[in-house]
Amino acid sequence: MRDIGVKVLVIGGGPGGYVTAIRAGQLGLDVALVEEQYLGGTCLNVGCIPSKALIHAADAFGHAVEQAKSAPFGLRVERPSIDFPRTLEWKDSVVGRLKGGVTALLKRHNVKTVRGRAAMLDGKTCRVEADTGPQVIRAEHVVLATGSEPVALPGLPFGGKVISSTEALALPALPQRLVVVGAGYIGLELGTAYAKLGSKVTVVEAEERILPAYDAELARPVARRLQALGVEVLTRARASSLSGDGTALRVEDAGGTPRDLAADYFLVAVGRRPRVSGLALERLDLTMNGNGSVRIDERCATSMRNIWAIGDLSGEPMLAHRAMAQGSMVAEIIAGQRRSFDKIAIPAICFTDPEVVSVGLAPDAARAAGREVVTATFPLQANGRALTLRAEDGFVRVVARADNHLVLGIAAVGAGVSELAGSFSLALEMGARLEDIAGTIHAHPTLSEAFHEASLRALGEAVHV
Ligand code: FAD
Ligand code: NAD
Repeated sequence: MRDIGVKVLVIGGGPGGYVTAIRAGQLGLDVALVEEQYLGGTCLNVGCIPSKALIHAADAFGHAVEQAKSAPFGLRVERPSIDFPRTLEWKDSVVGRLKGGVTALLKRHNVKTVRGRAAMLDGKTCRVEADTGPQVIRAEHVVLATGSEPVALPGLPFGGKVISSTEALALPALPQRLVVVGAGYIGLELGTAYAKLGSKVTVVEAEERILPAYDAELARPVARRLQALGVEVLTRARASSLSGDGTALRVEDAGGTPRDLAADYFLVAVGRRPRVSGLALERLDLTMNGNGSVRIDERCATSMRNIWAIGDLSGEPMLAHRAMAQGSMVAEIIAGQRRSFDKIAIPAICFTDPEVVSVGLAPDAARAAGREVVTATFPLQANGRALTLRAEDGFVRVVARADNHLVLGIAAVGAGVSELAGSFSLALEMGARLEDIAGTIHAHPTLSEAFHEASLRALGEAVHV
């Protein structure tokens, strides 16, 4: 392929990069996208989508097992079993369909897609080791969107039985025993799925409780459910290395007492770090943050003119929807629009059982920011829809300013509450007051009524509790 010059070069075809390229194409910009592995990036291929497919299949199997045991609503299921390779085939088919969609959208918006690894030569040029041979791409603007990679623990490098989420999403067979290191997003989402699929799961967490990134009230129903599923959770415990013969994981509790945990696999999920390897960033003069991410301002501009960084490469929160929002904004800025990343909140969802959603501030965080707040929760036990779903452990919580009732934060725990995230975010972005939510009709019977009732309760007007 011959060398090319374009207006916009996007490096990395994950949700950040491909959305930048599509939006740039929509705006009539000449754009090239370089992707070394797979379009859709981590999220579509080895992250959000395959994990949610596996979680759904595990839920379905878990429900079948529960029906076989106690038939709470009279469904007769006898000895359910799962064909795991077929489950993975289905998961892969979902990924394949979405990847086909991304490919078609890039084509429709005239994006020049180049497959290969890009390394920067200078601030305007990169060399791609493409399938068709080396290619040089020159651009007025470069958008860096190379994402992130899993962090390994010192003394526990990935390989063999020590796996990251990527391998955990494509195991050759269901593990009988799985040890998960890290009770954050990945550890608990995948640990719960494997527990439902029948694996004996142990979770090892360094902090004193699970999901330390969420406040304690939100993590409690998840801890209860893990216990009911028979998942062993070891908190204030650290994994250090494999035992001599490599079959067990050496874990030390807070007092330093060691314990060996044998398992088929050890899933290490202790965080992800920005991916810069192979990109030759040292040839540029970019200011980096201490955690290895590229420093950006509120427009995703780096310290070098016309070089932009988005998504996981630009640090926390490492979430696909943040990467996409940054990507479309950068394309619009390059097209001449005045934009900045002025989001009031970035929603976070943990797809555990029950699911956890958080948008904006938790009560303690709001108080710590110097606000006098009013807060209220509404339990799902008092929500008709939750009872019809047999999913009554959980609640919706609202936090608002005490003086003018401006909503500062909304959170929920419960089965299926991830679908409420959109209305929570909308409320915050629109600057809703408690009265706005209280004055909106929420359809009956739905889980969203719990949001309505939590707002009513904060105003002292709850009807159903
Ligand atoms: P990536 O998606 O990582 O894409 C970067 C791309 O750049 C990759 O395709 C890579 O091959 C390519 N690349 C890297 N270097 C080069 C180079 N030198 N040349 C060419 N190409 C290069 N987020 C959510 O919001 N919701 C979820 O439910 C969720 N679930 C997750 C589950 C798991 C198991 C994991 C691991 C992550 C999950 N995430 C989730 C996080 C989400 O995947 C990331 O936040 C998101 O993918 C970041 O997008 P990105 O475009 O910044 O980077
Ligand atoms: P995480 O930051 O969510 O959780 C890591 C956990 O590991 C923390 O609880 C931490 O205290 C613990 N830990 C760290 N070192 C340890 C040690 N030595 N021993 C025991 N525990 C230790 O990280 P993750 O689960 O690897 O996920 C990485 C990122 O991927 C997330 O931060 C998130 O941005 C993204 N992600 C998002 C979703 C989602 O949005 N639903 C799902 C999966 C991943």
